Amino acid sequence: MKLMKEDNFNEIKKDDYNWRRGRTWSLIYYKDESLDQILKQAYLEFFYESTLNPMVFSSAQKMEKFVVNFALEILNGNQLPNSSGLLTSGGTESIIMALKAYRNKARKKNKWWRNQNEIILPESTHVAFEKGAEILGLKVRKAKLKDDYSVDIENVKKLINRRTLILVGSAPQYPHGVIDDISSLSKLALENNIGLHVDCCLGGYFLPWLEKLGIKLPLFDFRLEGVSSISLDNHKFGYSAKGVSTLVYRDIDLMAEQFFITTDWCGGLYASPSFPGTKGIAPMATAYAAIKHLGQKGFIQNAQTLMNKTRELQKIITQNGELEIIGKPVMNVFAVKSNNPNLNVFVLADQLQKKGWHVDRQQKPNSIHFILNPQHLAHIDEFEIDFNQTVEELLMRPDKFNHAAEEGNAAIYGLVAKIPKGFNRFAKEEIRKVMKDMYRKNNHEYSDRIQMPKDDFKMKLTKKVLEYF
Ligand SMILES: *Cc1c(COP(=O)(O)O)cnc(C)c1O
Repeated sequence: MKLMKEDNFNEIKKDDYNWRRGRTWSLIYYKDESLDQILKQAYLEFFYESTLNPMVFSSAQKMEKFVVNFALEILNGNQLPNSSGLLTSGGTESIIMALKAYRNKARKKNKWWRNQNEIILPESTHVAFEKGAEILGLKVRKAKLKDDYSVDIENVKKLINRRTLILVGSAPQYPHGVIDDISSLSKLALENNIGLHVDCCLGGYFLPWLEKLGIKLPLFDFRLEGVSSISLDNHKFGYSAKGVSTLVYRDIDLMAEQFFITTDWCGGLYASPSFPGTKGIAPMATAYAAIKHLGQKGFIQNAQTLMNKTRELQKIITQNGELEIIGKPVMNVFAVKSNNPNLNVFVLADQLQKKGWHVDRQQKPNSIHFILNPQHLAHIDEFEIDFNQTVEELLMRPDKFNHAAEEGNAAIYGLVAKIPKGFNRFAKEEIRKVMKDMYRKNNHEYSDRIQMPKDDFKMKLTKKVLEYF
């Protein structure tokens, strides 16, 4: 049989950004060549096995236990008598499974509050919680942020009522890398006898190293008594292959509420701890291998290197005084906004993109997002040159680039950020159409990167707004 030609993948990949040269400021968490080899070996070792029946392949459980113990140890939960945890397919699954556990526990107690349970989310919380709320039939209440971009505790207090299921805080949150006041949330959770999930998807395998390096951080883990569960992603700063995250609980009884069990299926007894049925062991094996290989020492060294470079990168970005870091980010994740109306961050992102750099765009406020990883270390100088040149161009020719704000992705992001209240539903439906187009049968091959049909979208939105007034 003829094997697939290698250049076939090269052809498929030709439009991808070159992350190995540090060109994506998110999405890829890569440690180094030597871990790369080890992860691939681990993955291949468990290419076919699944976690479906732990009696058949007990290796999954052995590796899972090891990773969970490690997570509990670094989050100061291993001394708790009933603490436990499990591995999921990613941060979103960890979050949704935790929500299910809280919901099912509450429903056992208060049957008549069915479908009325509420969760209180800071505005900066990862959308996975909203996705989970939609699936599980929970009502979301959004808590405002303070000027420092952490959640406003007074606002959280006001939102608590008898239907409140849990509070949520992030350490840190994704958009600005800012850590919420978990101590105060913990106190509120205890006072009101409700759960507190701390989303450490981003920081769980990073913040503990900063503490070990002597950087003072506010408490965010099981040392706070009100913290009842924590999610932390191996496929982020745990440097595993994609497809694995850790979910840990203070109390295994709560965790047991996320299990699905049925006894009357023709196929026999079926008990499943989390969302998937058949689930590959391979990603879990890479989580295990990464921790074994790096050990705390390896993680700590890496954190030190990345923090030093983060400060350098922040200096490069802010040195001309036109751009500013948002809030007080605690780790190697941060967002940047502009103080100069002639320097539109979305136009900046478009121009950087033309030079091969991908940066994520954000809103409230308009900003661009950076996550620093080892693959960037050797390319910061190249970024500095392109970045400075781009900013200079933008400031020299504001007329030209004000026009640029009306086109390209900048137009879309600028517009989305300005969508008046009440038009969100319209915007969502327009985006749904774009997604449908991406999935149409006759539209499988893309020669160009997928782009939003901006002009059409803009025209329609303008028309709707005009109709409204
Ligand atoms: C990445 C992330 C998530 C979601 O994780 P996925 O692995 O993308 O599903 C949740 N919360 C935070 C803070 C994250 O950074």
